[in-house]
Amino acid sequence: MKHDYDILIIGGGASGLFAAVTAAKQAPHRRILLIEREQRMGKKLLTTGNGRCNLSNASGLNDRYFGDVTFAQTAFAQFGVEQTRLAMADLGIPTVELEEGKLYPCSLQAGSVVDMLRFAAADAGVAFLTETTVQSIKAGDPFLVQTNGPAFTAKKVLIATGGKSCVGKYEGPTGYDLLTALGHKLTKLTPAIVQVTTEKEPIKPLTGIKVDGVITARCGDEIRTEAGEILFAEYGISGPPVLQISGMIARHGGGQLSLDLLPDWSAKAVNNEIATRCRRFAHRTCEDLLTGLMNKRLGQTVLKRAGVEKLSRSCGDLTQKDVDRIAQMIKTFPLTANGTKGWNSAQVTCGGVVTKDFDPKTMESKRHKGLFAAGEVLNVTGDCGGFNLQWAWTSAYLAGIAMGEDDR
Ligand SMILES: Cc1cc2nc3c(=O)[nH]c(=O)nc-3n(C[C@H](O)[C@H](O)[C@H](O)COP(=O)(O)OP(=O)(O)OC[C@H]3O[C@@H](n4cnc5c(N)ncnc54)[C@H](O)[C@@H]3O)c2cc1C
Repeated sequence: MKHDYDILIIGGGASGLFAAVTAAKQAPHRRILLIEREQRMGKKLLTTGNGRCNLSNASGLNDRYFGDVTFAQTAFAQFGVEQTRLAMADLGIPTVELEEGKLYPCSLQAGSVVDMLRFAAADAGVAFLTETTVQSIKAGDPFLVQTNGPAFTAKKVLIATGGKSCVGKYEGPTGYDLLTALGHKLTKLTPAIVQVTTEKEPIKPLTGIKVDGVITARCGDEIRTEAGEILFAEYGISGPPVLQISGMIARHGGGQLSLDLLPDWSAKAVNNEIATRCRRFAHRTCEDLLTGLMNKRLGQTVLKRAGVEKLSRSCGDLTQKDVDRIAQMIKTFPLTANGTKGWNSAQVTCGGVVTKDFDPKTMESKRHKGLFAAGEVLNVTGDCGGFNLQWAWTSAYLAGIAMGEDDR
């Protein structure tokens, strides 16, 4: 049996829910159906921002995106951070700005964002269908949407199926499959905002140590530097600056890392400090040369990598050359990155459906009138810090408005 809708939205995540609310408010008379393959809507949204939902960022959207950047910026010019805050407040989700411009719901509960989006959609008359997977879409007027249950027809269809990250064992059709079957092009997909795996030997003794550092990643001609807490783990490194460079590492399949372990000290100051310690603590063993300056285990690893193999040596035996090498190791601790922890640890997908076949003001396909796409399925990837959800809200809003408009 076929069921007819004006608007059918595939994917009840951030962008699907927001698009449903927007379209339903724009066109209250339209029949809208939202289909979600999970048991409940917004499952991934619940996990965002460590359960607090870092839903946007007030520090500006320039230089925070990868992929089809011009497309994204054109969209942000229509509906940016301020419009998002107003729209969220209008739904009963006032926002609060915390560290580094990160915006959260005042409740600091991701669950409340899912709830309020769901309530708003239901109040506006959106019909929900969960535990239902869309298998295929046949283009036409109307579109024919086949699920693993019933088939539906709809004049307008939005694909808001998200990315490849953290989807567990799901093997059914993805939004990428649905869109490529309709003639859209897909870039290479790599995991991003994910822990980085590195060579093991140099960091073996460092598992569990955290350091406030600066990391510089080099992959071919691409260089990126990020500051913040770096966590050493058995597989490699993690922490906010590592998550930021991870997309680049994944895209290149690896890269060279250089860690500044004392970023507030100039190279000269570090060198002077070590030379002074060698004199003051000449009678002590090298084991404790850096104790008090940095984490003890990290200090000992630095010394060994700088060529001070025998830590039982006296500090007073070290030469100026040794001091130079130790200081250099502290400022440019090298590591080879060989990949990332992969899809099930990644927060987002780098890459996606190519946007040149979509209108950045409406998210409508240029190939099929009435077909729309929003969110992570498109080739727009943001940094860690609320930028990916901002893209979901922006693209969903524009699609929602366009779908709600009278037939164009
Ligand atoms: C652990 C974690 C933490 C994160 N934290 C943040 C954060 O703090 N800030 C931030 O900006 N971003 C964060 N992100 C990224 C952010 O969650 C995503 O970028 C965002 O959810 C993308 O929205 P979306 O609507 O495109 O996709 P999703 O929210 O993933 O929604 C897509 C939905 O489509 C459904 N679906 C897929 N295929 C089908 C199908 N064939 N039929 C029916 N339904 C289907 C899926 O089940 C899913 O519910 C985080 C991600 C993870 C994994």
